[in-house]
Amino acid sequence: MNAIKKRKNGFERPFGGVQILSLSIFSYTLLNFTVLCIPFLPLIEVTICIGFFLISSFSTGLFWYKTSKTDPSDQTISQTGPFCNICLKFVDITSKHCKVCNKCVLNFDHHCTVINNCVGGHNYRNFIYLLISVICQQTCVILFTTLFLVNLFKTEMQSIKRSAYKKLSPEAIAFSNFLSLLLNVMIFTSSIALLSMHAYLKIKGITTYQYIVKKRNNEIAQTEESQHSKISGRDVDITKIAPVFN
Ligand SMILES: [Zn+2]
Ligand SMILES: [Zn+2]
Repeated sequence: MNAIKKRKNGFERPFGGVQILSLSIFSYTLLNFTVLCIPFLPLIEVTICIGFFLISSFSTGLFWYKTSKTDPSDQTISQTGPFCNICLKFVDITSKHCKVCNKCVLNFDHHCTVINNCVGGHNYRNFIYLLISVICQQTCVILFTTLFLVNLFKTEMQSIKRSAYKKLSPEAIAFSNFLSLLLNVMIFTSSIALLSMHAYLKIKGITTYQYIVKKRNNEIAQTEESQHSKISGRDVDITKIAPVFN
């Protein structure tokens, strides 16, 4: 009898710390962009920015929902293949048991802490689309926030002083945008790194899990090899010394 409850998808409890943190950071930066950046942009730039921002945000939201909501578990019903001692059933050869979700995942790639769900055969494509959407959205946010900050210092914050945000000081608005920009750059660079990594894995024809296992095995082999050569090296030293005593 399996005592630990299986998690269906990323929206099921318990929610992860990284999931809550990343969602909070993402919401803050988007709220900041919508409320404290877009209203201060020149009219032509606002038109371009809003169009691009809405499309990429819709795409990000859609693929985030799809990747999180999908249950990537192995539904194999055949009586062949490897047997999982935790699920107590035969699974596909590409499946791997995830300890966090407590289930076997078909074409297991990795457990993503940001969406708090496994990424496997059923949601891998949506995960890649999510990364591309985030990169597009963050490109838009970074470009226009930078533009806003440059304009702000050029015009010595006159646009903000004349704005509806009279209760907020221009310095506070500038600080919030600067903080948001830093976070956006972090999200952007990590998404680019992750997408590049998956492009590399695609070329190699392996999953993230297989890559990690291969890397770990190589490290173990290297450690064993260096330990062996240290012992061999000591032997060599002894034989070098030996003729002196002869
Ligand atoms: Zn299992
Ligand atoms: Zn998982």
